[in-house]
Amino acid sequence: MNIILLGPPGAGKGTQAHILVEDRNMTQLSTGDMLREAKDSGTEMGKIVADVMARGDLVTDEIVIGLIREKLQGEKGGGFIFDGFPRTLPQADALAALLEECGESLDAVVEMQVDDNALVSRITARSTCGGCGNVYNDITKPWPADGKCENCGSTEVKRRADDNEDSLKNRLMEYYKKTSPLLGYYYAKGMLQSVNGLGEINEVKASIAGALG
Ligand code: AMP
Repeated sequence: MNIILLGPPGAGKGTQAHILVEDRNMTQLSTGDMLREAKDSGTEMGKIVADVMARGDLVTDEIVIGLIREKLQGEKGGGFIFDGFPRTLPQADALAALLEECGESLDAVVEMQVDDNALVSRITARSTCGGCGNVYNDITKPWPADGKCENCGSTEVKRRADDNEDSLKNRLMEYYKKTSPLLGYYYAKGMLQSVNGLGEINEVKASIAGALG
């Protein structure tokens, strides 16, 4: 099963993707994670995208489509979860073509609906584990008292450079201008399922399981 998790920044796509990886042996393809890796390891592409990402703008379609093309040739386990991709209509068309080339298809697009007001507090409270990428939230899911990740035991707490109010405003604007048209695109293809992304992690997990059948 290949699925897209669609929703604004802070909707919980990464958190739910991690759960699907654990529960269903799926492979998470997060273009945001791939770009951050390129930036942190100082590759040429990483240098090009660093400022764009810090501002909260979208990087070019060409770059992200190239990243996804490479990954589709790799191990897919129980299927791919596209997390943060596609974000524009040309990316959505490119994904359809790439999947067809590999003899794959898209099975579902899950929209995670959240109230915009909740996004700011979610994002500014967010941290991830440097070891395994497990997502924490200072208010709803704080780091364990012993400072060790519940999943892998790492003590490395990471906060994203673009998880601040200014960048978030821009990321939200990019979402509404360029990504939200994908809701209509996938609805028209009969693939869109919407879930409430505002509940507890396990409630959202159950809604997604229901949507995937
Ligand atoms: P994310 O981790 O998905 O929130 O992505 C972080 C940042 O990476 C975004 O604000 C964009 O600058 C960039 N990015 C990630 N995925 C894409 C994409 N599919 N298209 C364009 N830019 C992206």
